[in-house]
Order: sequence, then structure tokens, then C-alpha cells
Amino acid sequence: MELKIIETTKKKQKPTSTPKFGTCFTDYMFVMEYGNGEWKNARIQPYAPFSLDPSTSVFHYGQEVFEGCKAFKNKKGEIRIFRPWENFKRMNASCARVCIPQIDEKFVLSALEKLVMLEKDWIPTDEGTALYIRPAVIATDPALGVHAAHNYIFFIILCPVGAYYAHGLQPVKLFVEKDYVRACKGGTGHHKVGGNYAASILSGERAAQMGYDQVMWLDGKERKYVEEVGSMNIFFCLDGKVVTPELGGSILPGITRKSVIELLRSRGIEVEERIISIDEIVEKTKSGALTEIFGTGTAAVISPVGHFMYDNVEYEVGNGKMGKIATEVYDELTGIQNGRLPDKFNWVDKLN
Ligand SMILES: *Cc1c(COP(=O)(O)O)cnc(C)c1O
Repeated sequence: MELKIIETTKKKQKPTSTPKFGTCFTDYMFVMEYGNGEWKNARIQPYAPFSLDPSTSVFHYGQEVFEGCKAFKNKKGEIRIFRPWENFKRMNASCARVCIPQIDEKFVLSALEKLVMLEKDWIPTDEGTALYIRPAVIATDPALGVHAAHNYIFFIILCPVGAYYAHGLQPVKLFVEKDYVRACKGGTGHHKVGGNYAASILSGERAAQMGYDQVMWLDGKERKYVEEVGSMNIFFCLDGKVVTPELGGSILPGITRKSVIELLRSRGIEVEERIISIDEIVEKTKSGALTEIFGTGTAAVISPVGHFMYDNVEYEVGNGKMGKIATEVYDELTGIQNGRLPDKFNWVDKLN
């Protein structure tokens, strides 16, 4: 497919300091449409609103998938995207689950590379900053009725983002959710499907009201096994090993999760992917066998956990501070992302 570039006539003013996450977008976006059985009209065009009929299927039935990855620019001007091919692969898996036609992963990756290079002046260079990349697909049939749509829009938008945490890597407080669940086996929890997040908002709001930063999700069936935190995967350092919940069909297979596992193993640290109960977490926190908890995801990279609340009891983890393993993993991962460290795992897509 051909990729057209439609130039903008007026460019936006770039922000002088890094804006709040996800609020400021660049001059261009990538768009292509699906209709009559094929993806077409691939173009990089000026960033602009879509005009959609109120009956458009995505508004009513949420047939939508999305992705999130980042491009980094260091002080030398080198630009890297972190494992973007993994995002498009995962996006196709999400599409398959909600009957959205497959995308050509190679084609959209090369379109993304062109878009990022076109917008390279928007990529911030300070430590911890990045250009956040948001690909998404929406169903656009102008008709009511629950069935697979025949028309879709795929788009990629970009936003410069600052360090995820304004005051550095402050440990977060988690609320362990017993009433609501995010996902269950057979559902869509292991795919990046919009509806999953709609289902999680109420818990997040309740936790925030009680002074907690994120929700720790338990499994949908027994409410016994830990699955994820907010929109991050979770790791526990206990008994001298690192444990993370196994991907059992209701956990999102995070690219950061996968990277952290590979990185820890390369350092000779034993990583177990297994089911882990909240009872075990509580018991090992009390005994001191559990020394660290941290979340992993593209937005925050690593998010250390200082406290968690379960059954009206608050527990402190690692004296409420960021631990040694979380710190080392954070340093190595961000080092690979901005080129401070060699790309020994072949994770980065170097653009210049
Ligand atoms: C995106 C996401 C993650 C993290 O995935 P990354 O690829 O590491 O960004 C974890 N959990 C949920 C529910 C997510 O949506």
C-alpha cells in the first residue's frame, strides 16, 4: 500500500515544559481506513478530529482496540522506539478477539517510523521523557446492531510526555479490590480492548477516594489470586526470587513485563511465573520474606509499591521505599531505551 503525506499549513506551538500525560498532541497523525474488505487510504495527515455519525458502532458497542509504546530521543539526537513490533503483534491479537480485520504489521510499523521522524522535534530529551505513541482501531459502521462492523479507522497519534511521576519514582499505594473484577478467563482482559478500561474506572475512583493510587486486581473467579495493578503488570520479590502472575488468559501480556523477565533472568535472578494468592502476599509481607513489589508498564516503566490495603488492613512493603531490584531494572531498561546502555537484547528500533 502507498503511504501519502498531506502537509499541514499551520504548525502548533510546542509546549515549553512537558505537559500532563496524554493532553498535548503533535501536528500529524497516521490514518487508514477499512472498507470493502481492505485497508486503504493510508496517509500521514494534519492532526484533526474525526467527524462520525452518532450511530457509529464504536460509540454503542465499544468495538475498539488500542496500543501504547514510546519513542525516545537523547541529548545526541538519537531516536529509538522501544519494541514497537511487539505492539503491532499484540494489536493484531486484540483485533482477532473483537472481530476487527488484521493489519499489516510491517506496513504500519514503517508508517509509524515515518511519522515519528516527521515529528522528531516534538520528542523531549530530558531524562524520563518520551514521545508516547497511541495506535488504535475503531469500528465506524454508521448503524446500530451488535455484529462485526464492515468499516474501521486505524490511527496513530503522538504526544510528548514528561516523567510519569512528577516527584521521581515515588512508591504508590495500592487498594486490593475484592468487590469488582477487571477480567476473567474467556473474556477480553488479556487484550487491549477499550471496554476493559471502562469496567475498571469505578474501582479506580473508589480507591482514589480512599487515598490509594492504583487498584490491585484479583482473579475474577475466586478473588484469591493477584492478577495486575491498574494498567500494569505486577512483580513480587520474595524468598530471594522474583514472582509474577502467570499469563492465564485474564492478564494483559505486557511488553514491559516480558522485558523485565528477560532482563532479570539475564542477571541470574530466578523469575517464577505462577499463580500467587493475596494470602501468600500478606503472609510473606508480615514475615519479611517479601521485600519489594513493583508494577511494570509502558507509561511508568517501573512503579514501586510502598503500601497495599487488603481487607481493611494496610501493609507496608520494603519500608515504603523503592527497592534494589526495582531500581536496577528501572536503570537498565531506561538505559537501553535512551541509548545510555547497549541494546543487547535487540529491543530498540533505532531510527537515525
Ligand atoms: C497496557 C497494559 C499493561 C502493560 O503493558 P505494556 O506493554 O508493558 O505497556 C498491563 N496491564 C494492562 C491492563 C494494560 O492495559
